[in-house]
Amino acid sequence: MGIIESMRLDGKAIYVTGAASGIGKAAATAFAEAGADVAIVDINLEGAENVAKEIAEATGSKTIAIQCDVTKKDQVEAMVAKVVDTYGKLDACYNNAGIAVNAPAEEMTFEQWQKVIDINLTGVFLCATAAGRVMLKQGYGSIINTASMSGHIVNVPQPQCAYNASKAGVSLLTKSLAVEWAKRGVRVNCISPGYIGTELIMNAEHLKPLIEQWNAMAPMGRLGKPEELQSILVYLAGDTSTFTTGSDIIVDGAFTCF
Ligand code: NAD
Repeated sequence: MGIIESMRLDGKAIYVTGAASGIGKAAATAFAEAGADVAIVDINLEGAENVAKEIAEATGSKTIAIQCDVTKKDQVEAMVAKVVDTYGKLDACYNNAGIAVNAPAEEMTFEQWQKVIDINLTGVFLCATAAGRVMLKQGYGSIINTASMSGHIVNVPQPQCAYNASKAGVSLLTKSLAVEWAKRGVRVNCISPGYIGTELIMNAEHLKPLIEQWNAMAPMGRLGKPEELQSILVYLAGDTSTFTTGSDIIVDGAFTCF
């Protein structure tokens, strides 16, 4: 089989969190286009159901929508159990749900801090370990997490200390799990996107001045598109990346290079 054919995900079962929109939706679409059956997981059930329907119609892959708040251990465990019940196994997962809160550190409330850490970092821990327990038993599996270039640099001008800290945490959590599980068939990687122009960002009037500033700082002079993350995610989920584990792959149009 040639390399491109080997990259296909036919017959694989994959869940994606935060898949009702943005990067998660683009990832789920790519996995399904590559042949996988995909569980669309989100706190927003209606959004997840719409995406699941759209992807099934467009690709012919089997999809299910599952409501899950990634900060709740019982919901995460029920979600993983539902995926395994539905598809009989879990080949890969993409723990991607996340939020950003901008507030100066000295004014950030404890609740704001806690919410960002709960969703972005604890949510990834809960999902990755629940998925990991299934995959360790199977003896195989690929876990992908969404970190961010904000885990590598301090973005300006917006103040976002909780977000930056949560994403640096995702990166080291990813590497920690990769080392713990390296000899047991389970790989763990993350991607660190630069600014990505999801619909939410592009349609938010209040972000327009920020986007102009980000573009002025960006070597490529533009935001990335969710579709520009798809090929790396398909690679990480599949069987041509078997020596790739513990990697944090920055996809940022060189934003963090200087
Ligand atoms: P988005 O807001 O379009 O999508 C996030 C999804 O997560 C939404 O569908 C939302 O309903 C869901 N979600 C929120 N809280 C949840 C919870 N508690 N449980 C389950 N689902 C929940 O955002 P996006 O831009 O597509 O971002 C996706 C990921 O990529 C996030 O982790 C984000 O931090 C990261 N990221 C985004 C960018 C960017 O510029 N867009 C850059 C780097 C990293």
